[in-house]
Amino acid sequence: MQSNATLAQSVEQRIRNAQVVSSSLSSGSRGLSGIPFFNSLLSMKTLFPIPVLAAAALLAFCCTPGQNPDSRTDTVIVDALSQVNEDSVRTYIDDLVALHTRHTLSSQTDPEKGLGAAVSYLERQCGRWAQAAPAGRPKPVTERIHYTVGENGGRYDRVVSVPELMVTLPGTKADREIILMAHIDTRVIDVMDSTSFAPGADDDGSGLACLLETVRILSLIPLEQTVKCLFVSGEEQGLDGSRYFAGLAKEQGWPIQAVLSNDMIGNTRASGTELHEDHKVRVFSESRSGEDSDSR
Ligand SMILES: [Zn+2]
Repeated sequence: MQSNATLAQSVEQRIRNAQVVSSSLSSGSRGLSGIPFFNSLLSMKTLFPIPVLAAAALLAFCCTPGQNPDSRTDTVIVDALSQVNEDSVRTYIDDLVALHTRHTLSSQTDPEKGLGAAVSYLERQCGRWAQAAPAGRPKPVTERIHYTVGENGGRYDRVVSVPELMVTLPGTKADREIILMAHIDTRVIDVMDSTSFAPGADDDGSGLACLLETVRILSLIPLEQTVKCLFVSGEEQGLDGSRYFAGLAKEQGWPIQAVLSNDMIGNTRASGTELHEDHKVRVFSESRSGEDSDSR
């Protein structure tokens, strides 16, 4: 495993090699295909674990560019990326796996197992980083949100209020928001089994770890656009936590510029084709116009 300093040095070198154009982050379309930096980062060959690289990609996407828009590299972005800590990402995944299951219908009261313990863990981590945010920077706000499931049957055997988490990192411009997501809940083959061991290291511990590391680092950095990190539940039962947030966003008129959902980002092997790729972050998006391209 690389030391943090070596990792930081290597990340910076890789960014320089990719000839990052920092001003691209502040101009033009915020769709993924309109961001040369993001595409450069995604196409880079890397030896880093995918969740680490993905955290770097999210940071680059969210950072406010520095003072010198003509520079081929941006110190704000480079500094942010250099803080991604591989050991931290691994620890988050280990901690989440240790909770036995995070199934949406699992215990909300057991301090060591289940969805309640998982939400508390995420809340503790993000709350700690909010406290450590530098003076003069708006403090990140962590909110535990409940929604009700099971009223219409589906993959539920009872009506229950379930928790999820929203961490808001306020930007100086209130008219733009970026949404980053990962899902908390896990499952075994039987989607109604809420007690069996369902570690979910990849699905979606990898996404949660990436999001946690992103929150940690963004808590230290001034932002222009507001970044909302959504840790959703109910995904395996039918995307219910995401649906609840979508309704909230519509109701409250969130000025969303982009949504990046991180699911199973540690998976490097395609089950259907057995193709193995552990050097790239894969991005999937719906085409608006029906055309296809490498940038999707
Ligand atoms: Zn998933």
